[in-house]
Order: sequence, then structure tokens, then C-alpha cells
Amino acid sequence: MTALFPFDNSYARLPSHFFGRVAPTAVEAPRLIRLNRALAVDLGLDPDRLESPEGIEVLAGRRVPEGAEPLAAAYAGHQFGQFVPQLGDGRAILLGEVVGRDGRRDIQLKGSGPTPFSRRGDGRAALGPVLREYLVSEAMHALGIPTTRALAAVTTGERVIRETVLPGAVLTRVASSHIRVGSFQFFAARGDVEGLRALADHAIARHDPEAARADNPYRALLDGVIRRQAALVARWLTVGFIHGVMNTDNMSIAGETIDYGPCAFLDTYDPATAFSSIDRHGRYAYGNQPRIALWNLTRLAEALLPLLSEDETQAVAEAEAALTGFAGQFEAAYHGGLNRKLGLATTRDGDPALAGDLLKTMAENEADFTLTFRRLGEAVPGPDGESDPATVEAVRSLFIDPTAYDRWAKGWRRRLKDEAGDAAARRQMMRAANPAFIPRNHRVEEMITAAVERQDFAPFETLLTVLARPYDDQPDFARYAEPPEGGGRGYRTFCGT
Ligand code: AMP
Ligand code: MG
Repeated sequence: MTALFPFDNSYARLPSHFFGRVAPTAVEAPRLIRLNRALAVDLGLDPDRLESPEGIEVLAGRRVPEGAEPLAAAYAGHQFGQFVPQLGDGRAILLGEVVGRDGRRDIQLKGSGPTPFSRRGDGRAALGPVLREYLVSEAMHALGIPTTRALAAVTTGERVIRETVLPGAVLTRVASSHIRVGSFQFFAARGDVEGLRALADHAIARHDPEAARADNPYRALLDGVIRRQAALVARWLTVGFIHGVMNTDNMSIAGETIDYGPCAFLDTYDPATAFSSIDRHGRYAYGNQPRIALWNLTRLAEALLPLLSEDETQAVAEAEAALTGFAGQFEAAYHGGLNRKLGLATTRDGDPALAGDLLKTMAENEADFTLTFRRLGEAVPGPDGESDPATVEAVRSLFIDPTAYDRWAKGWRRRLKDEAGDAAARRQMMRAANPAFIPRNHRVEEMITAAVERQDFAPFETLLTVLARPYDDQPDFARYAEPPEGGGRGYRTFCGT
């Protein structure tokens, strides 16, 4: 019989101090919550076999599949600005890598027991955070935002102790790689230049193969990470996503959204929003994310200094030149994204100010971020320059003072006159840029409560179905587009530990 996973494990071939070899801990009574069958097929796996008792035992960490070389990766990281020289996979175990339709992918179990890096943790995951990560990462994928994926979730039949006793679960996570900014910091902090070089060469082979042919491959790697991160954070902002814990160990070199913990989406637009209970000073607030991304990338550049040039001054110059690129790349991606949200296919000097005015008006008037943009698409003026009054009312009523919207919309309508193309095409473009459905926090909480308290996974399935098509009107599910009572301002999230 062929192997369940056709593993080809490149990370396991790196030097032995890159990781600790460790098998998952067997759990009592695994039960499959859900297999992502479409993703399994993309990965070249057999979904029926993964759903069989043999497959479920593997997805629960009870059985190590053929060809797997399970390991926990070593990494360091800045957590809320404080450097921790050794973190590492404390509750995640990489089974191995498979090469699927879209390239090489890590297959990792999260919550499958202690590792050499668990420190005081139990290596386990609770059901709520596992369902949250499954749902939100799949929603991000459907929104078109680079992200790790969820292949499966299982309950373990065991309990994990947090502030209360909770059901345990394991998530199977799929990623282009799990190499983090903190992975480079791990070697840099130890003065291990050979380790650093081996990791950089590995990262280049996986994520920036063309960098290998550049004059300075490590500079090209740094440029690639910066480019991907600038684009990623811009995408986050255009859908109202707040990662919540952008520590350097939670920032992927591949440019994927990774480590979904206290993440959440904005309801009411307020750039100072920070939902995470541990983010007391708003370090990782919505509007701070570009600045933090650059801060993290600066830590990466520092870690890479020994590789950038043998001459220290030259190395610093290379790092600075690379980091200088971030602002322009982020601005271009962010304003390009905002223009699409406003139905503008061309760019004009005044566009960032036009978008900025709308955001400011939304903040002052506590308008819902997602609904405002979605409804704006319906309120696009027709060939006569007029909009259907009902569609205009649907947007303006989202503002405490609807006349504040009216004042902004005058400038928008004037700007739209510069655009070629008809109203129908513009509406179509705006629908593709402005999702109707995001994982609303109150819906995510409802879903978790049903699963944890009543073993009812129907809300999880429903939400997954709705969020798989975020840009389509789904009239039967219209209530899932609605914000919570009161705009969700008091919402709090907790680290998914
Ligand atoms: P995070 O910021 O949530 O991604 O996690 C920070 C660090 O804590 C990582 O090194 C995790 O592996 C580790 N960690 C988190 N939860 C646990 C747990 N329950 N057991 C062991 N390690 C954990
Ligand atoms: Mg993490």
C-alpha cells in the first residue's frame, strides 16, 4: 500500500541543532471534526483514507505515518518587543513535507503533546482555539490572502487545563514553510553564522529560488521577505484583519499569515482597535500593523547582517537599503487595495486623501468597516451620475451622522467621473474587493460556544460554508453579514494557548 503522505522532508535534513526530534503523544479517543477534503486533493492526498480510522489516528498524533520524520523546530523571537533567545515549537510537531499542486508544503500537528521546547506548557491545544484557527485561516484563504491552511481538526477525548477545564483538540496545519523571522534570530543570537547560512540557503531554495542567482543572494532573500510582508499587511488592512500577536516568531518568511491566536476582524472601524487581552498598550493594534511589520523586518535584517557582506559597514548599508523599500511597497499595495475598494481602476494624486477622508469619517461616525465598503459598491452612480436612493441610504445610515457621509460622497462621485468603464463593471470590481462576509467575532464566539459546551459542530460547518464564498451575496445567509449589536467594541480575544 502506498504511504498516506508522500513525504519528502527537507527541513529534517538540516543540521541537528535546528530542531528536536520528537513524536506526537498518543491521545485517548480521537474523533474527526472535519477534514478539508479539497485541500487534501490539492496536496495529492487521498481524502477517503485520511477520513478512515488509520487517517484519524495520524491526524490525532496517535500513529506516526510512514515517511514522517517528526520534529519540533527551534526558533527565537521578540515577544512584545522583548527578545527571548529560545522559544521553538512548544506545541506543534512537523510531520514532514509533501509536494502538492502548489508546491512544497509542511504538514504540522498543533496541540499533539510536549516537545523539547514546551518550557512550562503542556503542548496541547483546546478545542476553541483549534476551531478558530481552522475557520479564520480558511476564511483568509477564501478572501485571497496568503495564509497557512487547515487540513483537519480532531478532538482528542482528553481535557486540557487552562483557566477552566476544556476539551482538547489537534489541528493539522499546512504551510509553505514554518520558517519565521525568529528562526533566523535563533542562530544570529548564538553567533552561529554557519547555521544562519544553512537556514538562509534553505529558505532561498524554498521561497526565493531566483535569489540564488542574484549577485547577493541573501540581500535578495531579505528583499523577497520584505516584499511579501508589505503586500500581506496591506491585504490585512483592506479586510479589517488584526493579527493580534505580531511577535517576530509569528512572522513567516513565506509571507503567509501564520499563528492565529487572538486574531480578530474589525466591526466598527477604529484604527486603534486591539482585541487581544494581553496587548494592553495596543502595540499590535489594527493601524500599527505596518509599523510593526517593518520593526520585525528590521530584526530580520539585523539577524542577516553576517551574511549580507563580510564588511560590516557594507552589510549595514545593504540592510538599510532593503528596509527602505518597505514603505513604498506597502503604500503602493495598500492604496492600490483601497482604490479597488472605492471602484477606482486608475490612480490620481488625491486618491489616498479621498480614501483617508472616508476612513476618518467612518471612525468618527462608528461605521462598520466591512458593510460600509460592501454597500458603497451598490451605491455606485449610474451613467447619469445618480445613484439609486435606497442604496445610498443603506450606506449613509451606517454613519452616526449620515450627512458626514454625504459630504465625503460628493468628492467620491466627482472622482468617479474621471474613470472609464460603466457602472456595472465598477460595481463588479468593488464586489470583488469588498467582501460581504468576514468571520464576525460574535459568530466565531457562538460557534466556539456551541462546540465546546454542546458538542454541536453545526455552526462551525455553517460558518465555513458561508466564509468559503466571501465575495458572493448569499441571501440565505444575510444575517452572517450583519455586525453585532453595539459594533462589537468591547470584544476581547485571548492567546490561543
Ligand atoms: P504564540 O505567541 O502563541 O505563537 O506562542 C509563543 C510560544 O509559546 C511558542 O514557542 C509556542 O510554541 C509556545 N506555546 C504556546 N502554547 C503552548 C503550550 N500549551 N504548550 C507548550 N508551548 C506552548
Ligand atoms: Mg507562535
